[in-house]
Amino acid sequence: MYTTLLVRYGEISLKGNNRPYFEDKLLENMRYALAGLKTHKMRKTYGRIFIEIEDDLNEVSQRLQNVFGIISMSPTVTTTLDMDAISKTALKVLLDTPGKTFKVRTQRPNKKFPLKSPEINKQLGAYLLTNSQNQSVDVHNPDRVINVEIRNEGAYIYSRTIPGCGGLPVGVTGRGLLLISGGIDSPVAGYMGLKRGLELTGLHFYSFPFTSERSKEKVIDLCQALANYSNSFRLVIAPFTEIQKSIRQHCPEEFYVTIMRRMMFRIAQLVAEKEKALALLTGENLGQVASQTLQSMSVINKVVDIPVLRPLVAWDKSEIVEVARRIGTFDISIRPYDDCCTLFVPKHPATKPPLKLVEKAEKALEIETLLKDCLENLEILTLKARRQFTSCVSF
Ligand code: ATP
Ligand code: MG
Repeated sequence: MYTTLLVRYGEISLKGNNRPYFEDKLLENMRYALAGLKTHKMRKTYGRIFIEIEDDLNEVSQRLQNVFGIISMSPTVTTTLDMDAISKTALKVLLDTPGKTFKVRTQRPNKKFPLKSPEINKQLGAYLLTNSQNQSVDVHNPDRVINVEIRNEGAYIYSRTIPGCGGLPVGVTGRGLLLISGGIDSPVAGYMGLKRGLELTGLHFYSFPFTSERSKEKVIDLCQALANYSNSFRLVIAPFTEIQKSIRQHCPEEFYVTIMRRMMFRIAQLVAEKEKALALLTGENLGQVASQTLQSMSVINKVVDIPVLRPLVAWDKSEIVEVARRIGTFDISIRPYDDCCTLFVPKHPATKPPLKLVEKAEKALEIETLLKDCLENLEILTLKARRQFTSCVSF
């Protein structure tokens, strides 16, 4: 009976002159998410989109649950603009939604409709009570609200609300470059970036043969999971073996991690320029490990002038894990393959590396040559969203 899906988008309706752009992007992303299903007519009105459903409504709403910018959705029945039809339809919706108490809420953007909202509420409430059993009205705390919208083209009646994942449509805030390891944190950082409307390119440093082909597959799978929340996802894989060898050969052990990260950031900034990305994103988290003290982060940051976004900086590990599970990256992240960093962690990494000493230690490296060799051997993959949806990801 539900032939229309009412989609609400909240935040983007606030964006002033940018609003049409934000809305068009949302519609584009929704169309992309519904690719392969029958064509769906979409109609935009203020703050909401109506989709006429030709396919399975569950499939459509599940797919849209992964589209950022959508606040919530309601399966809706449409009917003609007469009270008899509206009453019968409202009764069907009432009986289709579990509960013992209800209230009717009417909105009437179509001012030509002869009854005003309070009168409609009253008439419908009475009709529903008379024509159902064991139901009562509770205006303060009802089990369900029977919503009626009287619009020019017809009446829309709905009760159920399915949460969306909120945020902003992917693409509206630009592109970021996500430094992605095989760990738990960086994919979650990527998800948070996508949630705030960033399109992402991933950058992964790969140290073959110190890390196996499997660890690369793991990162590809993580990026695939993120691609499912955007339309597509570019992944740049950068060879890091020579750089790591060189650091190990020429630099003091306590600075391995700091210098390794500085090399990563230098390369990341150059890749960001190529990708037209305006910020780096990392899964760094204040105080989590030696390289994530404020002092370490500031010494690492010194080699770039591009902004570095750290969406997880103040999260607890348990919060990160919770989101990782919800977005489907956790099980991939815990596969037991080493990341290039875990292989080169010294026994006593400096937690407060002095900038001067780090800079001095780096003089032993052929930085320009190492960067050039790495950038000449990038591997680039484009991952397309695979529309397999499991659960709701809102939080
Ligand atoms: P994660 O779980 O994201 O790997 P972590 O707790 O293991 O984080 P680190 O290994 O210190 O932390 O890495 C900090 C950040 O540096 C990562 O979140 C990621 O953004 C980046 N990073 C680490 N290793 C790599 C890599 N091999 N390729 C790309 N980026 C990396
Ligand atoms: Mg890691």
